[in-house]
Amino acid sequence: MTAVALADRLATGTVIGAEGYVFELERRGYVKAGAFVPEAVLDFPDAVIELHREFLRAGADVMVALTYYAHREKLRQVGRESDLEAMNRQAVRLARKVAAEGGALVAGNVCNTWAYDPRDAATAGVVRAMYAEQLGWAADEGIDFVIAETNDYLGEALIALEVIQELGLPAMVTLASTRPARTWDGYDYVEACRILAGHGATVVGLNCDRGPVTMLPLIARIRDAVDCAVAAQPVPYRTDETSPTMESLRAEGAGRVFPLALDPFSCTRFEMADFAVAARDLGVNYVGICCGAGPHHVRAMAEALGRTVPASKYSPSMDLHPILGTAAPSQDRDVLDAWNVSP
Ligand SMILES: [Zn+2]
Repeated sequence: MTAVALADRLATGTVIGAEGYVFELERRGYVKAGAFVPEAVLDFPDAVIELHREFLRAGADVMVALTYYAHREKLRQVGRESDLEAMNRQAVRLARKVAAEGGALVAGNVCNTWAYDPRDAATAGVVRAMYAEQLGWAADEGIDFVIAETNDYLGEALIALEVIQELGLPAMVTLASTRPARTWDGYDYVEACRILAGHGATVVGLNCDRGPVTMLPLIARIRDAVDCAVAAQPVPYRTDETSPTMESLRAEGAGRVFPLALDPFSCTRFEMADFAVAARDLGVNYVGICCGAGPHHVRAMAEALGRTVPASKYSPSMDLHPILGTAAPSQDRDVLDAWNVSP
């Protein structure tokens, strides 16, 4: 199946994204929390392929190569610097393999490096070299565009954008919005997106950190401020005004829940479906999901946007439920009554 180009998809409808690979593979036992390096790309490629395929079947239009945190700085920290090239190349191959099964696009992926310091000009060169090697390998393997994401600094995001443009590829550049209003180098998030758009990014926006409730108001302001396509990929967690990011969520008696005890704050598939519709109605062009995502979220989002996807074959038919289904032959009033009683 031939993939329709990103620009054509953005021009004619909503593009559905699905990310959070590192989080999900950690839950499945293939990535170590803390470092969060996607070692599974080399160690358990079948696990990566399976997750790609689940997101594809759920309606994702883009297979994102799992090179998040597969940069030199991170691999050095886990003693696998010699695997850097192999890991980056293999990640693209795995994404390509699955994308071809469903006509999806393949995105290369870079993220914040933790090596950038706006007060130290030399770090810009270090970051540039890290992006150039990762994306050089990705472009060599064959990608349709690049997602540069979870950018804390506008300065670092602009370096990624330049490297992507030098490779002649479309760029989607999204910011981490961990702070109330500004990037770590002091730019209002809206202004930072306007600057990225001005420098030629195809898509700008936000990903990760905020849940749907706290991402939507900010993305609405970004949508109003730029002419290019806008992306919104929140985490499926119930953030609110008091705790606008998943990092700031606190459980009573347990303190910080990020990143290992977020489960009680999970959004349901219905909440993510509502988010997808709300984002689309705001004019968001690339509607997705980040850390915490499961294929059930993605399918519900795709269906809410009017799609029937491969996994729709197994979408819920609650009318068939033995107790909850109104036409169920075995429906038992006594059981239903018991379910309705509060203890
Ligand atoms: Zn994320």
